[in-house]
Amino acid sequence: MAKPLRIKPHHLLDIIRDLGAGKKHEPHPYGHGVHRLARIIRDNPHTVFVLTADADSICEPCCNMIDRRCVDTTTSPGRKVSKESWNRLIDGRIFERLGLEEGAAISALDFCRLASERLGDLYTLYVEADPEKTAVREKNLTRGFEEYLKAAE
Ligand code: SF4
Repeated sequence: MAKPLRIKPHHLLDIIRDLGAGKKHEPHPYGHGVHRLARIIRDNPHTVFVLTADADSICEPCCNMIDRRCVDTTTSPGRKVSKESWNRLIDGRIFERLGLEEGAAISALDFCRLASERLGDLYTLYVEADPEKTAVREKNLTRGFEEYLKAAE
């Protein structure tokens, strides 16, 4: 049997946000699997994913994944930090807000339904981030939820 697809909650939300922004996912120089999972999520909303805060099916082929940890950095919180730590912080908040545990199996569609109801205020979810960037995230994520849920009706 094929291994279940694993995804970090923030990766799933980022893909929905990108769909809301009308972004086309192309292969990335890092070699990660965002484009592959974005296509699956877009075309097969009933696909079940196992939620994880560890390396997921997007990270698997990425050049930044060493010993199953992300060695990249990010400036999302306004200073350069480990992307592994930042991702764990955000994913932990998402798990808490949605009332989900690591290892939960849920379809992309059900995850989006739940997130559209329970994710809440993005300015406190991304409290360390630039509020202007959060405003853009909020606009695109809201549109992404609307379009994704409507297409699956
Ligand atoms: S290993 Fe890091 S940079 Fe690569 S996909 Fe995963 S989180 Fe992103």
